[in-house]
Amino acid sequence: MEMLTRRGFIWQSFEIYGGMAGFIDYAPLGNNLRRKIENIWRRRFVVEERAVEIDTPLIGVEEVFIASGHATSFNDIAIECKNCNRIFRADHYIKEKLGIEVEGSLNAIKEALEYYNVKCECGGDFKDPAPISLMFSTSIGPGKGRKGYLRPETAQGIFIDFRRLLSYFRDKLPFGVAQIGRAFRNEISPRQGMIRLREFNQAELEYFVHPGEKRHENFKKYAFDVVRLLDKFDVEHRITLKEAVEKGIIAHELLAYFIGKTRRFLLEIGIKDEKLRFRQHKDDERAHYATDCWDAEVLLSIGWTEIVGIADRTDYDLNKHIKHSGEDLRVFIPYENPIKVKKRKAIPKMNKIGPAFREKAKEISKKLSEIEIEKDPEFIEVKVDGEVLRISKEFFEIQEVEEEVSGEKIVPHVIEPSFGLDRITYSVLEHSFDKDTVDGEERKVLRLKRVVAPVEVAVLPLLSKEPFTTKALEILELLQSAGFYTEYDDSGSIGRRYRRYDEIGTPFCITVDHQTFEDDTVTIRDRDTTKQVRIQISQLISALKELLSSGKSIEEFGIPFR
Ligand code: AMP
Repeated sequence: MEMLTRRGFIWQSFEIYGGMAGFIDYAPLGNNLRRKIENIWRRRFVVEERAVEIDTPLIGVEEVFIASGHATSFNDIAIECKNCNRIFRADHYIKEKLGIEVEGSLNAIKEALEYYNVKCECGGDFKDPAPISLMFSTSIGPGKGRKGYLRPETAQGIFIDFRRLLSYFRDKLPFGVAQIGRAFRNEISPRQGMIRLREFNQAELEYFVHPGEKRHENFKKYAFDVVRLLDKFDVEHRITLKEAVEKGIIAHELLAYFIGKTRRFLLEIGIKDEKLRFRQHKDDERAHYATDCWDAEVLLSIGWTEIVGIADRTDYDLNKHIKHSGEDLRVFIPYENPIKVKKRKAIPKMNKIGPAFREKAKEISKKLSEIEIEKDPEFIEVKVDGEVLRISKEFFEIQEVEEEVSGEKIVPHVIEPSFGLDRITYSVLEHSFDKDTVDGEERKVLRLKRVVAPVEVAVLPLLSKEPFTTKALEILELLQSAGFYTEYDDSGSIGRRYRRYDEIGTPFCITVDHQTFEDDTVTIRDRDTTKQVRIQISQLISALKELLSSGKSIEEFGIPFR
């Protein structure tokens, strides 16, 4: 963290006013790194999935979060000290002080606190544990305004646009919709730098499917990838995704597909395979909406940490929004061949409804004939012009009729891979951090994958004077206009400058030296091997393009320098 701050990856927010836990600023290098990770995610989870990306407001009206359940039940259990009044998140506090994992429920926490007689850091006693909402609330508009919340996940913005999205996709399942953006959770006591933030970045894909078709046409791409799984009984498996589905460890192929895809994405951006596992949520741990849920966890200096959640959210959210908004968010699935079905229907008696209900009679009889009846009811309720009318049985007759049905309406299920970009960015940094010895001295080096390096090429004049500087600036401009992320640096000895770029993970340094003025060549230095080769300036752009998108070594592109 010291290095990340000193070198300009991340800074404490509001630093000059004493800072505030749970917020970070992305400094220049961290900002580039996160954006690059985001763009690779977009390529893998939007473009390749033939999904679409939308962007909805960070503030949501209260109704959205009443429907989703967040307004009332998005809580963590907190404990407050009677003596110093500090408040802690109970499960984290117990884990930190006793090294014990407790389940997040109020009862389990109460029991653990009593059993171990847990005290505050100041020695004081705690009040009874109580749930505290993680929602940031606000009001929209002047005066009392309308109540709103900052969104705790990007997903709800997608669910509430479902009807329009369905029509955008020509009313056909499956389809994927992504959103990348900020989410807000008023975490109780965030104390882990970039890991637990109150404002953070999510990249979420909501993949809508027919409940009976939880498959993916490209599963074969990942079927034979061997993954490390920790199932809900804490049993570890190292098996192929195909086997995991066949043995019923992963609930279905579509979840396995996204586990495979997530793993490949994480490896692509620099997460270490040996420090990556997928952990299944236990039955009592799963979110209220999920049937099966797997977290991608990485091993960090603070232990195994969740960075991605992959959940089968079923039809939970859409059903909630159907109920609360009154909108029909179902999808019509046509049958291959229409079928004939027998239905019991209420046949309106027009001679009675007409005189009794007058101008409403037509609408009432239409509504009545749409309803399918199970038992013989005493009355039927219909909604006409917003008014609920109770129609007693003298106004209709129950008959069995045969109808041709061409399809059915279903509420789709949604599979959601949800990525925390800040945790991923931090994990990439930690997994890339390395030390070695160069010229008898210890060197700190960030072995970032070339595709995510925030500075791809540094252009360095050997000496900080003419004609080296002008030539180096010329090359800088050349590389910038070709679209590379570059930096120019002429301060300090060349050795110190190489160290700086090693430390921020720059894969290549270009140096303008004496020979540049003799034969129009420069040197390229490789961060990992510290080797250098000479290359013609005219070939620099094509060589760098290839180097940055592949694992090739610089030796393939020039003549050895030393
Ligand atoms: P969840 O909706 O809780 O499954 O969160 C999805 C992802 O968002 C997690 O896997 C984390 O990577 C990330 N995340 C959740 N809460 C936070 C937080 N407070 N700070 C940073 N990232 C978070």
